[in-house]
Amino acid sequence: MSSELPERVDPFGLCDAAQSFEGRLKLADLPRLASTLAAPDGDVGYRIDCDRDEQRRPRIRGTADAQLVVTCQRCMGPMQLPVSVAFQLGIVTSEEQAAQLPDAYDPLLLEEPRLRLASVIEDELILALPVAPLHPAEDCREDPADWSMSEIEPETALQRENPFAVLADLKGSKKDD
Ligand SMILES: [Zn+2]
Repeated sequence: MSSELPERVDPFGLCDAAQSFEGRLKLADLPRLASTLAAPDGDVGYRIDCDRDEQRRPRIRGTADAQLVVTCQRCMGPMQLPVSVAFQLGIVTSEEQAAQLPDAYDPLLLEEPRLRLASVIEDELILALPVAPLHPAEDCREDPADWSMSEIEPETALQRENPFAVLADLKGSKKDD
C-alpha cells in the first residue's frame, strides 16, 4: 500500500504488480474539477487497487470521497455536495477492446502509454457531478415559488394566450370552412 500517487505510470505494470494506493489529494491539484467548483477547497480521499482479473484483464478498482462546494443553479449560492464514487475500470487501448469489456467494467481508454492516476480520480468525480445542482428547497436562499412569480411582469402574464382561447379559435376557423 502506498499513500503517494505516482505522477505518471505504466498502468499495465501497476496491474501486473497488483499495486494499491490510498490517501488524499487536494482538490486544487485537480484543475478540471476545481474549475467547476464554487471553491476548490478541501481534498478527496481515495483508494485505488490495480490488478488483473481472472481473465488476465488489467483493471483499476477504486473509490473516491469528497465534500465539494458547487454553485446552486437556483440561487447561485455555494452549496455543499458530498460526492462518493466507486469505479471498476478495464484498461484498454482501442475502441474495439472497450466494446469487448464485460458490463461490470467501464473502459479506461489509454491515449498514451503513461497514466496519471490523479486524473482517473478527477474524471470519476466530474462524472458524478449533477448537471444542475440545487439546494433542497428549504435550504435555498431563493424560494422557487416567489422567484417564478416575480420573474413574470404583470402585463406579460396578461398577454399570455389562454390555451383554451386558442382551441376556441381553431374550432371557430373550422366552422368558417
Ligand atoms: Zn440555492
